[in-house]
Amino acid sequence: MREIKLPNLPGEQKVQEGDLLPDQWFKGKEEKVKQNKIEERIKMKNIVIFGAPGSGKGTQSDKLIERYGLEHISTGDVLRAEIKKGSELGKTAQGYIDQGQLIPDDLMVSILASVYDGFGRGHKGVIFDGFPRTIPQAEALKVMLAERGDKVAAMIELAVPEDELMKRLLLRGQQSGRADDNEETIKKRLVVYHSQTQPLIEWYKQEGVHHHINGLGDLDRIFADICAIVDNL
Ligand code: AMP
Repeated sequence: MREIKLPNLPGEQKVQEGDLLPDQWFKGKEEKVKQNKIEERIKMKNIVIFGAPGSGKGTQSDKLIERYGLEHISTGDVLRAEIKKGSELGKTAQGYIDQGQLIPDDLMVSILASVYDGFGRGHKGVIFDGFPRTIPQAEALKVMLAERGDKVAAMIELAVPEDELMKRLLLRGQQSGRADDNEETIKKRLVVYHSQTQPLIEWYKQEGVHHHINGLGDLDRIFADICAIVDNL
């Protein structure tokens, strides 16, 4: 029979394999496990990747997922998938998307909560891409996460000049055939961005989690700037 040493007991008490462990050995261990779980959740990297349409949120999200193993919610992708399926939600969304307008906040918030809960409790963090887009959405996200003991660790703003956004979106429209990437709808989406979404920069500054990144230039340099923030969360 093998002897097992219990290092946490005074005098390094020995027991035989198969013996029951004394109660004393368990003391404080459950507390430690609970504490570790809380610390893990505090370290969780929930990130809002933020910027105008065409600022590179999707591209940089893919790189973040690969490097950090994070979950990803792109509300635009969720809506496009619903349109493809022909669901009721898809039919509602289509009209707004074609007009370059935002889907109503209450609908978006309920979609977001159900996607987030679908990730379960063990994830390392979620990238929110294309959400929030209004102050009520940001407030709802804060409440939704707080109810689950979570929070946004960083809001990363990709800043890109307007003429470059237009160039990128027109090119994406040609390459992907995305219907809302046409000049008229892009202009409307940029107006909506400035009036409804951009105020979130100030909102997240108040929250103390805003980070500004120059989103123009080499993709790898932009990603390195993002990683410098994420590594320190
Ligand atoms: P995106 O792929 O993020 O550019 O989103 C495409 C379109 O989906 C937007 O122009 C909106 O019509 C709609 N959309 C995506 N995310 C949201 C959101 N968080 N709130 C409202 N509408 C959204």
